[in-house]
Amino acid sequence: MLNDAESVMRDRDAAHLVHPLHSTAGHAGAKVWVGGEGEILIDANGGRYIDGLSGLWNNTAGNGRRELIEAAHDQMQMMAFASGYTGSSNPRAIELAERLAGLTYPNINHFYFTSGGGESTDSNIKLARHYWKLRGKPDKTKVISRLWGYHGTTFAAMCATGISTYWPMFEPRIPGFIHIPAACSYRYEAPEGTSQGIAAANELEKAILAEGPDTIALFIVEPVPGAGGVLIPPDDYFPRIREICDRYEVLLVSDEVITGFGRTGKMFGLEHWGVQPDLIQFAKAITSGYFPLGGIGMSDAVADVLLSSGQAWMHAYTYSAHPVGCAVALAMLDIVEGEDFPGQAAAKGARLLTGLRQALGDHPNVGDVRGLGLMCGIEYVQDRATKTPFDAAEAVGPRIHAAGVERGLFSRTRGDVYQIAPPIVTSEENIDRCVEIIAEATKAVLG
Ligand code: PMP
Repeated sequence: MLNDAESVMRDRDAAHLVHPLHSTAGHAGAKVWVGGEGEILIDANGGRYIDGLSGLWNNTAGNGRRELIEAAHDQMQMMAFASGYTGSSNPRAIELAERLAGLTYPNINHFYFTSGGGESTDSNIKLARHYWKLRGKPDKTKVISRLWGYHGTTFAAMCATGISTYWPMFEPRIPGFIHIPAACSYRYEAPEGTSQGIAAANELEKAILAEGPDTIALFIVEPVPGAGGVLIPPDDYFPRIREICDRYEVLLVSDEVITGFGRTGKMFGLEHWGVQPDLIQFAKAITSGYFPLGGIGMSDAVADVLLSSGQAWMHAYTYSAHPVGCAVALAMLDIVEGEDFPGQAAAKGARLLTGLRQALGDHPNVGDVRGLGLMCGIEYVQDRATKTPFDAAEAVGPRIHAAGVERGLFSRTRGDVYQIAPPIVTSEENIDRCVEIIAEATKAVLG
C-alpha cells in the first residue's frame, strides 16, 4: 500500500468522484494536481511536470497570471452575477462582444456566450436551424461534420463529434448527422489526378448532393482538429469548402474552441487560408481556463435574419454572458494581444516542430510529425512505408505517454498519436525539454 500524499488523495477520489471519460482502470494511476506555475504543474507529492497540453488545450497563459486572478476578484466584488437573459445585460459582456467584433473574422460581429465548447456546438446547431426556418427553408436541418472531429459531448454536440467511440453507449443518436472523412494530409488518399485538398473537400459536396442540398443546415469543422489527432489540412482544402458551402447554401461553422486566440500562429484558424466562416465557436483559451466561458459568433447576414425576425430565440443558459467570465476574458484578450500570442505560438511552434522532426524524423515507427503553430502531433505506426498502425492492444500511445510522465511531461494521446500543445508562455528551454522527453520516451518504448 502506498501512502504518499498523492496515493491517499487518489483513494479518496475513487471513493466518491466520477470523471469525464471515467474508467476505473484508466483512473488507477491518476495524477492529483495541486499547484501551477506558468507552464509547470505540481502534483500532490511535489513533483513538477511540463503541462504538455495546456490543461485541456485551454491554459495558453499558464497558471498564476495576476491579471486574470484580479479581474475575477474585482468583478466578483463589484457584482458576482446578474441575469444575461433578454431584458438584462452587464458592462463586461458588452465590452467583450465589442472586443470580439474587432478581433474575429471581419464578417462576424454578433456574439452569444456559453459556458464551454459543447454548449457552443449546440447553440450553433440550434441557431442554424432557426435561421433556415426564418429564411423559409424549414427542411434545412441536417448537420455535416467530419470523422475525427471533436465538438463536445452534450447530446447534439456528441452527434456532431466524429470520433466513433463516443457514440455506442448513448445510441440512438439524433437523426440527420452525417460524417465525411477528415482532410488529413498524412492519411487522406485522393484519386489520381486530383489534389488531396480538393478531393477531401469534394467529400462535402458528395454528402450534400446525396442528402439533398435543401436538407443541410450546416457544416461544422475544426480548422485543425485537436482531440482527433492534430490533423493538418492541405492548403487548398478550406477555400474549396467555402465555395461548396456557398453553392449549396450551407452555413460554414468554424469550431475554434482549440484554434481560437493564437494557438495556430494566427488569431483564428481559418485566417491561414483566407476563408471567412458564417458562424464561429470558441471557448477554452478565451479565459485561459481560469473561468468556464465559451460562445458563438455570427456573420452579419445571419445576425440580420435573427435580430429582425420579431421572434424570441428560445435558447438560454443561466451562465450566458456571466460577468465574471467576461471580465476574465477581457483581461485575457489584453494578454493575447499585448504579448502577441499568435506570434509567440508561431515561433515556439516552429521550434517545437523542427526539434521533433530532427529528434524523431528517422525513427522507423514515427509515421508523421506534424503541427501548425503551437499544436503538434506525432503519429506512431508499425510500418512507416505502409502507414500500418500498431495493434491497439500494444497500447503504444499510452505507453509513450506514461514514459513521458516518468520524465516530467504530462500530455495526452489519441490512440497512437501523441499530442503536444503546451502553454503559449512556455519558455524556449521547456519547449526543447518537451522534444528531449518525447524522444527519450519514444526510445524507451520502441527502441
Ligand atoms: N470543440 C472542440 C474543437 C474542442 O476541442 C472541445 C473540447 N476539447 C469542444 C468543442 C468541447 O468543449 P467542452 O469540453 O468545453 O464542452
